[in-house]
Amino acid sequence: MFKIAIDGPSGAGKSTLAKNIAAALGFMYLDTGALYRTIGLYNYQNKDLDLSKINVRAEYVDGKQIMYLNGVDVTAEIRRNEISLYASEVSAKAEVRAFLLDIQRNAADNYNIVMDGRDIGTVIMPDAQVKIFLCPNVEERAKRRYAELIAKGQNITFEEVFTDMERRDKNDSSRNIAPAVAAADAVLIDNSSFTEEETLNAAMKIIDEKLKKYGRK
Ligand code: C5P
Repeated sequence: MFKIAIDGPSGAGKSTLAKNIAAALGFMYLDTGALYRTIGLYNYQNKDLDLSKINVRAEYVDGKQIMYLNGVDVTAEIRRNEISLYASEVSAKAEVRAFLLDIQRNAADNYNIVMDGRDIGTVIMPDAQVKIFLCPNVEERAKRRYAELIAKGQNITFEEVFTDMERRDKNDSSRNIAPAVAAADAVLIDNSSFTEEETLNAAMKIIDEKLKKYGRK
């Protein structure tokens, strides 16, 4: 299988890039942040984290990843801003990461895939043929996330988004388990000043070289 890992901090544009790559190559796409968000939502709703009571499932409808929490479609709800911090909190727990490992590894074993997250190149698919680490600056990431949340009709200020983003960055990069750091063999792309298309082009250059190297092109 051909595996492409896209890692980086919150709001870097990972999922947009990963979706665009998957569409260009006809690969499967897995947004792993959605898995942690689904557990974060459970924690937010129930104030407990009893994994034996949690069933997480991802399905694909018209290329869109639909998330189910115990059979309920939570695709829209997990995008709420307060759920981001819950996701970040639960994702620091070893048992949560272990719980979500199977879904991720199964997908990686069975499909040509593009996966985006924080530890895809380091932990989930250390054998990925392509590893990209997107790293635009925090102002740019906060701007994008703010625009996204406003477009979804959420009532929030830029300062709130910026502060949450910094807090999540700190949580995600300083934790002991699976910190959000680039794999030694990842290619870094600072897409602070790139459009969506420019980011895709930069990534496709790297991918095309590897596809040729592995005789896929
Ligand atoms: O990517 P997204 O912002 O949706 O991820 C939500 C949270 O899930 C992140 O802040 C991070 O803490 C966690 N996460 C993770 N490992 C991944 C994907 C997401 O720890 N592979």
